[in-house]
Amino acid sequence: MSLKLFGTVFRRSSSYTSPVFQLTLRRSISFSAVKRPLSRSLSRLELAVPVCNSSGKSTGEFIRPISSRFQSNQPTPTVTAQTSSIPISESIQPTRVTVRTAAGVDNSTSVSKIKMDPKALSHYILPLEQPVVNLDCTEAFNGLTDQEKLYTYYLSKACWVGGLAVDIQTSPESPGIFCLLHDLFKTNGVEGLKAVAVGDCEFTEDEWKALLVYAGGFLFNSGNYKGFGDTKIIPGLPLNKLESLVIKAKFSGHTPEGALKLWNDVKDKVYSLSEREKQLGLGEKGISTYFSYNCTQDDAELINRFMKKQGIEGWMTRCFKTVDGEKISYEIRTASAEEDVKQPEAHAFEGCEIRLTRGDYAPLMKRVSEYLVKAKEYASNETEQKMLESYVESFTKGSLDAHKEGSRYWIKDKGPIVETYIGFIENYRDPSGVRAEFEGFVSVVNRPLSAKFAILVEKAEDLLKLLPWPQEFEKDEFLRPDFTSLDVLTFSGSGIPAGINIPNYDEIRQSEGFKNVSLGNVIPASYKDAVIPFVNDRDKDILNTHRIEAFEVQVAYHELLGHGSGKLLKKNSDGTTNYPSDLKNPLTNDLIESAYEDGENYDSVFTTLGSAYEECRAEAVGLLLCLDKNALKIFGIEEDKADTIIYANWLSMIFTGVARTLEMYQPKTESWMQSHSQARFVILQVLIEAGEGLVTVVEKTGSDGKPDLELTLNQSKIDTVGRKAISDFLLKLQVYKSTADIKSARSMFDKYSAVNNDGQYPWAKWRDIVLDKKQPRKIFVQPNLSLNGSGSVQLKSYDSSPEGFIQSWIERFQDLSIYEDLESLRLKDRSHFTDA
Ligand SMILES: [Zn+2]
Repeated sequence: MSLKLFGTVFRRSSSYTSPVFQLTLRRSISFSAVKRPLSRSLSRLELAVPVCNSSGKSTGEFIRPISSRFQSNQPTPTVTAQTSSIPISESIQPTRVTVRTAAGVDNSTSVSKIKMDPKALSHYILPLEQPVVNLDCTEAFNGLTDQEKLYTYYLSKACWVGGLAVDIQTSPESPGIFCLLHDLFKTNGVEGLKAVAVGDCEFTEDEWKALLVYAGGFLFNSGNYKGFGDTKIIPGLPLNKLESLVIKAKFSGHTPEGALKLWNDVKDKVYSLSEREKQLGLGEKGISTYFSYNCTQDDAELINRFMKKQGIEGWMTRCFKTVDGEKISYEIRTASAEEDVKQPEAHAFEGCEIRLTRGDYAPLMKRVSEYLVKAKEYASNETEQKMLESYVESFTKGSLDAHKEGSRYWIKDKGPIVETYIGFIENYRDPSGVRAEFEGFVSVVNRPLSAKFAILVEKAEDLLKLLPWPQEFEKDEFLRPDFTSLDVLTFSGSGIPAGINIPNYDEIRQSEGFKNVSLGNVIPASYKDAVIPFVNDRDKDILNTHRIEAFEVQVAYHELLGHGSGKLLKKNSDGTTNYPSDLKNPLTNDLIESAYEDGENYDSVFTTLGSAYEECRAEAVGLLLCLDKNALKIFGIEEDKADTIIYANWLSMIFTGVARTLEMYQPKTESWMQSHSQARFVILQVLIEAGEGLVTVVEKTGSDGKPDLELTLNQSKIDTVGRKAISDFLLKLQVYKSTADIKSARSMFDKYSAVNNDGQYPWAKWRDIVLDKKQPRKIFVQPNLSLNGSGSVQLKSYDSSPEGFIQSWIERFQDLSIYEDLESLRLKDRSHFTDA
């Protein structure tokens, strides 16, 4: 953790005030002090911070030289010092900061005020009010047959046990932390552990809460780094408190000595925050277990060259380097249940030895395979059976080809009731972008919602007429896009996305296709109990009450009639076209000038713009079509409620545009990192531009005295000003898309995507306000499935609270032999993960 103490060192005349905070987390403390007047001997300046324990008794002081980052050209020169050698076994309270120079204590300066920078703190410690919400799948699950339920039961088991590999993939200490936390909570029970903590170990209420939040965050992210953002998570309670709990609580999966030994092994890493440990990364830049600690970018590139030459893809692998005198050797180890009987022969490559081995995560891969074999018995069709057979082969033998084969069957399994995918899927977290994290999900078609989709498809022809483009710009026949709404039953990995587009294997995507998986219950869950800034109480109420219902409408239109609508005008090589030769461009009233040439398609023409542009088009279709009150009846929304739902949908879009998009904008590179976010920001700009008081955003001072924003949507203008603005915009989006007019598309889209620093809407400046009000990412509580005596499957849901979340994890892993698996895997590679 990095605490930033902001100390202002004034002239002698200033009075000294005792700081009023407590540093409960140690190891790495950085602080800045402003000194005036400038001291010539500043390069030899030191800061000395007396350290007291929690009862206020002085236990010495730490002194650190200030040698860097002194910027004398600033009006108030700032110096920053940092240390990583603060005693970690006590709670410390720096009570004053002394400035020393080479000549001794500098009495000409004194500390007037020290403030903790809460932002620096919140970066590594999850907040006590960490939101926890339930990922509800009950309705969808109840709609399954007994056979389908058994299928989900075994698949779910496979996903969860495979998901433990993510702990190993996250940091060397994570598997050990998992075993300790899980055993602590499982053996003592949540309430029992609390009794020990608050009773024997003198935890305060907040410290107990901090432990729950840490354990929850750790389990949800499958390790001690955030799945979204990749920064380290450390506990918000003192090390000595957590240690006393490990000593005084009971364990059943470990002996007391074993538990203490494990704790001593990992405790420093639980709390440490050296520059390298603050985030995931390669070599000096961060922590990664995809590579041994001695690997750098050069090693990663060498291994990439080798794999390319050998025609190997790295998805299921990790890389370990061994240096023995002059000899450098690498092991590229593939995940598999089977382990090599004898050491495979080495390849000589660029002066090194490289061995391709198998058996990474072996005991976990074995368990995954066993559950998949059981699941196969309950598959609905032969395609699913073959798919699972291939996965089993892949995880048993370490065959990537078998996983690709399984993925091919998966694509062919169209519209299944139970949708699942499992394996080493996303490569975001390998610093070199090659090796993938284990992930597994089981989701279930939401039959009631899908039934509404089916009606929409039937009415598509009528609804398409409501879109603003001429009939010639619409497909000759409406093609139902491959879309079903799925509710997540199980999702293991380092986080849960709202939708996925897989498989990631390029050759399969291009020639055989892919599937869009929309996880329908994720977004409504993330809306739950959300703190909603920037709007008045009435709007807050409306969003809280109606946003989920409105979202259902928006999603249906977005997916079916958004992505499903519109035609691409094509010119064939023989000069023929798929549109009439006298077709006019409705924007210019001139004859059509451009179209997709032979060999071109939307992605090849729109390239980097394509995804955000298309998402924007789909969102705009949703906004426009939801204005049709007749069609709203399909969703069970009657006349009297329609206005409210329309308002909630538009307000939700605009609110998202203001409050939830800018975090996905990177000011340094002036680029958007997320296409949905960019799309919603663009729509917000279009509606602001419409004027006439439809949407207003102004800066104000909030009740906390900090800068705030106020956003309003004028309900009476939605059907007039709003409808016209979105309709005109949608026409442009479609015509540019239809006519392959990337130039006009880009110029329009870039204009609306710009995050300006000045003018009436200085979004770049407002981004700080928005980020300041950002809510912590939610932790989702997922249900467990269990098999009862008569062989039927039950779904059990849990409280949406940290306690409920932890309870779900206690019950998820009943078989404590899993600890031995994780411990053996942790110890196996520990020599690869030492700092030396
Ligand atoms: Zn979309």
